[in-house]
Amino acid sequence: MMRETFGRIELLVGDITRLEVDAIVNAANRSLLGGGGVDGAIHRAAGPRLVEECRSLNGCETGDAKITDGYDLPARHVIHTVGPVYRGRPNDPKLLASCYRTSLELARQHGLTSVAFPAISCGIYGYPVERGCRIAVDTVRAFLDDNDLPEKVMFVLFSEDFFHIYREYLRKVTS
Ligand code: ADP
Repeated sequence: MMRETFGRIELLVGDITRLEVDAIVNAANRSLLGGGGVDGAIHRAAGPRLVEECRSLNGCETGDAKITDGYDLPARHVIHTVGPVYRGRPNDPKLLASCYRTSLELARQHGLTSVAFPAISCGIYGYPVERGCRIAVDTVRAFLDDNDLPEKVMFVLFSEDFFHIYREYLRKVTS
């Protein structure tokens, strides 16, 4: 099975919309009104009440995050974050790290125990997955070192290729 545990971090291949966790993170765009990729899948699975709540949030800046209810999803909440569109600029890694950190900070403030992340920016936004993976893993590990909540963070990858990249890096940094 494509699943491996590294302390409080769990890695798996799957569809993030199926997870029964306190919050799934959405790789949204700045409008927060839906889009393609994981964003489209989350809105379809959550039902039309999600976009209604999102309309009241007035969008979201790149690197920031906002929380909503999960509606028809098995997840209780959705944390919407906006990753950078990859253009190889020097501020990209900071903005991507900020997505993970801000999402975890929101989860902690809401007392959430389990949070699942997709590979933010690594789809339509074109971030190279090896770099996106390092930023995701380093930022999450640093946050978990400093905080008791969330207790558990999942990286939910949509392909076995991405899973192997994350697994190799997690094995390296946790050994
Ligand atoms: P971005 O615009 O931030 O790049 P995308 O949605 O295009 O976001 O892609 C982010 C990652 O999410 C990609 O690796 C994509 O394959 C993956 N993805 C798409 N649908 C799902 C899903 N249902 N569950 C988990 N990951 C998904």
